[in-house]
Amino acid sequence: MIELKPCPLCKGSTEILDAGDFIMLHCNGCGYEAVFDVNEDRFSKETLKNKIADLWNKKAVNMLKNNKQNITKTDTHY
Ligand SMILES: [Zn+2]
Repeated sequence: MIELKPCPLCKGSTEILDAGDFIMLHCNGCGYEAVFDVNEDRFSKETLKNKIADLWNKKAVNMLKNNKQNITKTDTHY
């Protein structure tokens, strides 16, 4: 199981919840939730959980990186 990065919005801890037909990525800090349909995605639950974790980790990194890039660009070019 991939370790989840904290929420980029509130720095809260996140977890993946198994809700039967759905897998949810849930933030314990701000309540952000992303829901994934198990049947629709055609993966085993464990595969889907890993994919969600991977996606979340990349997305969280990108969001933080973009914020930093915007600040850097503003500082250096303007
Ligand atoms: Zn959050």
